[in-house]
Amino acid sequence: MEIQTNRLDRGFYAHQREFEEAALRVLRSGWYIMGKELSSFEEEFASYIGARYCVGLGNGLDALWLAFRILGIGKGDEVIVQGNTYIASVMGITINGATPVFVEPDEYFNIDADRIEEKITDKTKAVLVVHLYGQASRMDKIVDICKRHGLRLVEDCAQSHGSRFKGRVTGTFGDIGCFSFYPSKNIGAFGDGGAIVTDDEEIAKEMRIYRNYGSEKRYYNKVVGTNSRLDEIQAALLKVRLSHAKELNGEKQNIAEKYDKNIDNPHIILPRVREGADHIYHQYVIRCRERDKLMAYLKDRGISTIIHYPIPPHLSQAYEYLGLKKGDLPVTEACADEVLSIPMFNGMTAEETDYTIEVINGFRP
Ligand SMILES: *Cc1c(COP(=O)(O)O)cnc(C)c1O
Repeated sequence: MEIQTNRLDRGFYAHQREFEEAALRVLRSGWYIMGKELSSFEEEFASYIGARYCVGLGNGLDALWLAFRILGIGKGDEVIVQGNTYIASVMGITINGATPVFVEPDEYFNIDADRIEEKITDKTKAVLVVHLYGQASRMDKIVDICKRHGLRLVEDCAQSHGSRFKGRVTGTFGDIGCFSFYPSKNIGAFGDGGAIVTDDEEIAKEMRIYRNYGSEKRYYNKVVGTNSRLDEIQAALLKVRLSHAKELNGEKQNIAEKYDKNIDNPHIILPRVREGADHIYHQYVIRCRERDKLMAYLKDRGISTIIHYPIPPHLSQAYEYLGLKKGDLPVTEACADEVLSIPMFNGMTAEETDYTIEVINGFRP
């Protein structure tokens, strides 16, 4: 049996008729950018998350850097972020000239809230929380730290659409929640897409200006903005995906439950879920000291896996200029050496999960 880590076609065929109708409706409408599909998606997504405003954007990275730009965070400022994240989180900070200050993760792969305060200096302006792999971070503690130190809070929700901490949806805890609708995300488009959510009317207004060349009124440009618009076709397709959000996250949670119950191998550590936190399993990430051997063993038996992420941002060439070296973030680096994302996608069959479990249980390094 051949099993890929993700199968995007399955998600399409599960609601094929609805997707095709939505795409055709836009194609036939003659209106392709900044129209009714976008505004209705923004309303529906804001309501799904429980925020007052949503602004659709071109992708998740734009959501991040525009968030910091609008909050006025740039050169000379520091932003606290976990070391083990996708590099886009860090670029959202550095595109504006601000400096990322890395904090080690906890056992749930999220920022270790107990280690944030030791990194706060008089230059610290914000914390960027990443709800990595779909699990909500320890938001009660993090919100409290930000309040006490007068810091802005931005959430990278690119992997946590609809995931909650103590009943409250991620993206609503801070000043701005940033989302990506990259096709593989839990709510994915069929191309690039992104959005921010916020309760602050002024931030929403600024974001609408920035995404459209800095102009509110055509040809009157207030700031040097950018071109980052969620197009009508993507917005229409995302509305279909959003209407099935509960079922899509639920399906992944069921696969995770099956993995949790049935993967049994002393060489493998299964993902843990924090008390009070939801996990929507954007990825199901196991740990193994013999990770590379495990990966090759699975590959030989037809099972593809992916490492999220093999090189932590502080060791990537792009961030050489920060002057960090191997050994500076040992917990983060151990994650990079040991994590493995196993197949987890909408439309994964029982035969596929059973086979994956059986093969993993047979691994001996
Ligand atoms: C996918 C992702 C992003 C970037 O989103 P794009 O839409 O690809 O720009 C940012 N942060 C995290 C954690 C992500 O997983």
